[in-house]
Amino acid sequence: MNKQLPELMFLKSRDGKEGCSLSAPEIADDLCVLAADKLRKDIADFPQLSEVEIVRHYTNLAHLNYSVDAGFYPLGSCTMKYNPKINEKIANQPEWNAHPYSPIHLVQGNLEIMKSLEELLMKITAMAAFTLTPAAGAHGELTGLRVIRDYLTDKGDARKIVLIPDSAHGTNPASSVLCGYQTKEIPSNENGILEVETLKKHLDKDVAALMITNPNTLGIFEKNIVEIARVLHENGSLLYMDGANMNAFMGIAKPGDLGADVIHLNLHKTFATPHGGGGPGSGPVGVAKDLVKFLPVPIITHEGKEYKVRYHNESGSNRVKNFYGNFLVIIRALVYLLELGKENIRQVAEDAVLNANYIRKKLEPYLDLPYKSKSLHEVIFSDKGLTVKTLDIAKRILDYGMHPFTIYFPLIVHGAMMIEPTETESKETLDQFIDIMIKILDEAKKDPAFVQGAPYSTPVTRLDEVMAAKQLILRWKPAATQTN
Ligand SMILES: *Cc1c(COP(=O)(O)O)cnc(C)c1O
Repeated sequence: MNKQLPELMFLKSRDGKEGCSLSAPEIADDLCVLAADKLRKDIADFPQLSEVEIVRHYTNLAHLNYSVDAGFYPLGSCTMKYNPKINEKIANQPEWNAHPYSPIHLVQGNLEIMKSLEELLMKITAMAAFTLTPAAGAHGELTGLRVIRDYLTDKGDARKIVLIPDSAHGTNPASSVLCGYQTKEIPSNENGILEVETLKKHLDKDVAALMITNPNTLGIFEKNIVEIARVLHENGSLLYMDGANMNAFMGIAKPGDLGADVIHLNLHKTFATPHGGGGPGSGPVGVAKDLVKFLPVPIITHEGKEYKVRYHNESGSNRVKNFYGNFLVIIRALVYLLELGKENIRQVAEDAVLNANYIRKKLEPYLDLPYKSKSLHEVIFSDKGLTVKTLDIAKRILDYGMHPFTIYFPLIVHGAMMIEPTETESKETLDQFIDIMIKILDEAKKDPAFVQGAPYSTPVTRLDEVMAAKQLILRWKPAATQTN
């Protein structure tokens, strides 16, 4: 593999070449809405190319993409698993196309789809009700925290603080602050989990909730969760469980049974809908019985034979998104669940855990494992004791044509390599990844500078990522006029 960036169209341009095989459309002058002097005669600086050159240009650009459909994608925390094509096929049926203001009696099927998914998610999680409207995990967090805030305020017990363990995903503190809370970070122990005693030390009457991810971002199950829930509830505080890692234990345990008051799920992670390319996500929020009335509208109900939509809520909770959420993502998730069936939901979790542990066992002799607790769906190594850094290894993986793992997260692990193979990968693919890792570690031992110079086969090599984020260049311009 030695991929090159296609030559810029502007540089290939030759005067007089045309990419259009049809003659200019004959638009009657009197049909043209723009005044003649406003019409462009020429487009300045447009490249002049033939049709086939343009087709090849874009096709070659598209081939530079990497995706789950192209190869292994062990990006920890993101659950980049394979999304079955049947989900796409069904989501693309024209029958679902409905204007969001369509009369309710004409969209009974669409409402049934949404209600069916809500009900399945309730079964999987043992929560009392769901809203499907949030557009992503982080949006679900904000929605869930609003429910907590409104519930406590309604009880006359508004509180100021949300406790968050130090292993948390960055969206947890961000959502809390956006919801008007102060956050307090609390440490996890040497086994990578939260101790009940630590929680107690930080608990007082101002704590609205603990926001905990389970299994956490170290891939470790928070085994004190039931006692944590009890201690929180005794203090009048609530338990928010970030359910982004639900693929590690769905079908085996249910957050509601563990004492969670609010959870969010990521349909685009656990429930196999595509993500990672900026496409729409979905972050349904499930709540316990006492909090149901604080869920945002619209609420879909099933009265008698008919589905209805309620836009008013006795608690006055507002909507969090226009209309009903990302409907086509909801369809994909429902298809995924129906296709799996009840028995195989558990199999998903078992395979996710098996795959992560297979990688852990095979790479443990070569890499430092900062937390020895049992791994669930992902495993976190560090670069301790190596001749090169985590970044160097990730860059070298690109030369082998694979997507690297998540690097430098969670923040509590120095030089973290966060590997999440997911349940959809075969043993052969895992072995291939493991072989590549062992090869790279061997290269690093023999010639660290070589690995530090990677990648060698990609169109661009090491980038100044800080600069790239701070000085976005979103539009190519000829060098002479490049100003930003
Ligand atoms: C992905 C993730 C989130 C955020 O979800 P988005 O859909 O990306 O907004 C929150 N928490 C954890 C643990 C996650 O892995």
